[in-house]
Amino acid sequence: MKTYFRLLSFAKPIEKFAIPYVICTILYVFFSTAVLTLLIPLLDTLFNAHSQNTVVKPSGSGLSVLNLKGWFDYYLQYFVNSKGQWAALQFVCVVMIVAVILGNLFRYLAQRIMENLRIHTLLNIRRAVFGNVMRLHLGFFNNERKGDILSKIANEVQVVQYSVTGTLQVIFKEPLQLIAFLIALFAISVKLTLISLLVVPVAGLIIARIVKRLKSQAIAAQNSYSNLVSYLDEALSGIKIIKAFNATGFITTRFDEENVRYSKITKSMSKRQQLASPVSEVLSITMITFIVLYGGYQVIHNQSDLKAAQFIAYIGIFSQLMRPAKAIGDSFSTIHSGLAAGERILGLIDEKPAITDSANAVEVNDFSDAIRLENVSFAYGDREVLKNVNLTLPKGKSIALVGPSGGGKSTLMDMLPRFIQPSSGRVTFDGQDIKNIKTDSLRSLIGFVNQESILFNDTIFNNIAFGKSNVTPEQVEAAARIANAHNFIMETDNGYNTNIGDRGSKLSGGQKQRISIARAVLNNPPIMLLDEATSALDTESEKLVQDALNNLMKNRTSLIIAHRLSTIQNADIIVVLEDGVVVEQGSHLELIEHNGLYRKLIDMQTFNAD
Ligand code: ADP
Ligand code: MG
Repeated sequence: MKTYFRLLSFAKPIEKFAIPYVICTILYVFFSTAVLTLLIPLLDTLFNAHSQNTVVKPSGSGLSVLNLKGWFDYYLQYFVNSKGQWAALQFVCVVMIVAVILGNLFRYLAQRIMENLRIHTLLNIRRAVFGNVMRLHLGFFNNERKGDILSKIANEVQVVQYSVTGTLQVIFKEPLQLIAFLIALFAISVKLTLISLLVVPVAGLIIARIVKRLKSQAIAAQNSYSNLVSYLDEALSGIKIIKAFNATGFITTRFDEENVRYSKITKSMSKRQQLASPVSEVLSITMITFIVLYGGYQVIHNQSDLKAAQFIAYIGIFSQLMRPAKAIGDSFSTIHSGLAAGERILGLIDEKPAITDSANAVEVNDFSDAIRLENVSFAYGDREVLKNVNLTLPKGKSIALVGPSGGGKSTLMDMLPRFIQPSSGRVTFDGQDIKNIKTDSLRSLIGFVNQESILFNDTIFNNIAFGKSNVTPEQVEAAARIANAHNFIMETDNGYNTNIGDRGSKLSGGQKQRISIARAVLNNPPIMLLDEATSALDTESEKLVQDALNNLMKNRTSLIIAHRLSTIQNADIIVVLEDGVVVEQGSHLELIEHNGLYRKLIDMQTFNAD
């Protein structure tokens, strides 16, 4: 129930929808019930049950103005008395049509309001989920979670809105309708109604048994669906590799297994969901038949004061009684998937980023001294990746991180923009623990270029100006020149306005990387982090990119991870990292002299004819 109300709270301000909805629904229920009760005078008039009677005109004062039945009876009798049966029938029919029109008008209005509420809720839920996802720390986004998030935003929000607003309708409208019908039934015959209502709890129990397991199945179905989405995402983004490795069969089987699992669950769910409807239909017809037998017996044997016309109207209304009752039952069977989806979405909305700014975090605007790692350790789960690392990055220097793959170089670099935080030790920025610095302001001082260039399906201009407004074409061009990208950009069809395709697929690796560098240049941060920025490239474009990088690093503090050691020989400090431990540190010549791991790595690369 708590989930339900929280989901509903996304429909703020709820009064804006609720009040007009309630008014329209009350009017709809009133008129639709009136239409059925009008059957009695209709049949009576038809079978000429009205005699020439005198009825008193209801007095026009006080509450009795609302005595619609009194007024109706009065006019009906008036028509019978003065104009005869045919005119009376016309009168009843006109009243009926008016009631039908009004009833349906209000139903339409109520539905419109509900639809607006639904769309409004959906908008807000999606906004809240996406907003929160963007705030989460980097570690949250591993692969299986990606499918999960995609499925939640794309699919489950939809499920929620249908079942939650669907039940909203049911919670209010159907009970009201039910009550209105019951009032009409009691008005016609108290005894008959009491007897027939005895059957209702029995029907309710049977339905409840059917829908019982639906919720756990709904959760399983949604988990399975999010797996499907993540497989799909992986398959589409890795299609080239999949084909190259002839792995289409493997990938297809994996997708298919999940697909089959998902289908099985939904099949079993729909079996139950669909069962609810025929079962309640059979139950209701059975009930009606019993009422026909019981009431019919009394009418035939003149044992009750129930007249034939009233009895027919009674059965008419009673058969309608089942509709709201059924709708309530049906919505119980769908609310389960809605609530299950709702809980998952709320889980995502409630997910707190593991790395947040402390309350008294300060803003930093420039970099003046040094960044230091002091006794920093870090572990992924149980695996220690960095062990007691001490490192200083003085302003204006270039520091290179080298060492065997898997040694923790990228992990160390991720510490600086606070993508991850040390499990012990601390990182300081100009002497200040970065925990106490506003992350946004810290990141705005740091530029980042890594092995894969992350580009977006947009124009070259927008990819370079990424996330910034008021950037002039001149600034973008200047950045592109520094990044050695201007010439090839001018050779594309539309220059800076060329769209580069999904993730930059229309560009070569070296070109993509130079666009990434231009982006970093435009940002003009005092600190640059380069993680194997050239290792995905061929020798020729590597040279172009390396020149671009050298331009980029001028007058900046930089931390460079490079695969090819020849590119970092001129770095001010070279740090050798092995298994998360700093094993050597110094200039190129010092380290060669030292004759340790660095020397070994250099020898290995020269031996390989580098
Ligand atoms: P390097 O950049 O020096 O090659 P990394 O810093 O990327 O090394 O990785 C160091 C170690 O941490 C590796 O053994 C790697 O398997 C592990 N690792 C890296 N990222 C993750 C992650 N997200 N979850 C778990 N382990 C990771
Ligand atoms: Mg790495």
